[in-house]
Amino acid sequence: MSVNFAAFLYLISASLFILALRGLSHPSTSRHGNFCGIIGMGLAVLITLLLVLPDFSRLVLILFGLGIGAVIGALIAKRIAMTAMPQLIAAFHSLIGFSAVMVSAAALYSPSSFGIGALGSIHTLALFEMAIGVWIGTMTFSGSVVAFLKLDERISGKPIILAYRHFMNMCFCAAIAIFIMILVMTGSHFVFWCLVLLSFFFGMSMILPIGGADMPVVVSMLNSYSGWAAAGIGFTLANMALIITGALVGSSGAILSYIMCKGMNRSFISVILGGFGSETLIPSTSNGKQRFVKKGSADDAAFVIKNASKVIIVPGYGMAVAQAQHALREMANKIKNEGVEVKYAIHPVAGRMPGHMNVLLAEANVSYEDVFELEDINSEFSTADVAFIIGANDVTNPAAKTDPSSPIYGMPILEVEKAGTVLFLKRGLGSGYSGIDNELFFRENTMMLFGDAKKMVESINKSLA
Ligand code: NAP
Repeated sequence: MSVNFAAFLYLISASLFILALRGLSHPSTSRHGNFCGIIGMGLAVLITLLLVLPDFSRLVLILFGLGIGAVIGALIAKRIAMTAMPQLIAAFHSLIGFSAVMVSAAALYSPSSFGIGALGSIHTLALFEMAIGVWIGTMTFSGSVVAFLKLDERISGKPIILAYRHFMNMCFCAAIAIFIMILVMTGSHFVFWCLVLLSFFFGMSMILPIGGADMPVVVSMLNSYSGWAAAGIGFTLANMALIITGALVGSSGAILSYIMCKGMNRSFISVILGGFGSETLIPSTSNGKQRFVKKGSADDAAFVIKNASKVIIVPGYGMAVAQAQHALREMANKIKNEGVEVKYAIHPVAGRMPGHMNVLLAEANVSYEDVFELEDINSEFSTADVAFIIGANDVTNPAAKTDPSSPIYGMPILEVEKAGTVLFLKRGLGSGYSGIDNELFFRENTMMLFGDAKKMVESINKSLA
């Protein structure tokens, strides 16, 4: 009776989770969605404690643990800056992976406490589910720790390419498969920890090669993995709430990753398998050679700029052509309201007349205090998360520093490449006034936003709404 009643209540909490996901799909309903999620989770915890927990003697210990977690969670939620959300989410994903591994270890060492058999004779199916959960959970843990370190700039956000990484990953996969088989056949504690160790390094080697601009995809993918890890452990423990919640998180995270991959022109399969770095093949303009550029959408750009701490906008001739200055000021105001620091960098020869950019920005009521000349702002690009280049080209071209044969050699340029991410908004890979290619389009930290400057900024504004 109580088992059926618990299952019924779990179904209600699962329905609340589905309502939560529905609400969170739009900012206007997100509060309502969040509320449903809180009620659903509260209900699931209560059912587990009151109806499912076999041994009440541990109730105090569990409540104590819950209390510590709740206090820490509430403190973090109150203090965290919105711009630090991506790294916070990555850190929380690591905890989900970690707890999946810890619960599995507890179930392995004391199976009778979880009702999955006696020590040394856990049901084979439960062992298999546990092995899968441990593998994905550990990978989620180590991958999320690396993602957190990158997003929080504790290690370089640039891709860290390990030698022979594809071969190494294949070896990891093969070894993990073998250890899962041995664990299922023997239930050995030693093999369990070997599997944990291998999965740990596999998770790291998957996330290290990913560059800063792709991190949003990584975070949503790790979100998906954490859900599958929870579902795996849910099967082991025959806990319906864990299975449903894990599957919801896993599938919604996978759908989100797919949508983001499409927006960034990434191959979903290569991201899921950690084969990252799939690029768009676009012929370079000058000599017909095939070069790679990263292409982003308005949604991608909105995500990147609103999660930045500091954005420097570099306007150029294309902004004037498109008359995008008003939409640009609106965009700047929106992200400023989110706490992002915004500055405008003006190159002396930007546009087609002296002071061209200053006039346009003044017309759009951009505050003079936010506008800086080249010599005053150039040293600041290295401290900016994003350089947002709108219709400018020659004034950013590093050939001016590196190529003595270039027509613009010697011209001081805005050193946008020093920013964490460079967003280049223009219609194509066309050259600027000087007629020369810009090497920056093909750099690892560049994302091209192809389109008319005004239309693209208006789309970004919609995405920011
Ligand atoms: P730029 O190098 O001429 O580049 C402008 C870029 O804007 C182009 O590459 C073009 O690329 C893009 N664009 C054009 N229409 C667009 C639209 N509707 N939407 C989005 N992008 C658009 O401009 P800059 O960086 O401002 O540099 C100025 C250049 O002009 C310098 O070489 C300078 O020496 C020269 N110049 C300046 C003056 C002056 O007094 N300021 C006078 C004469 C010459 P896509 O085709 O791919 O979109």
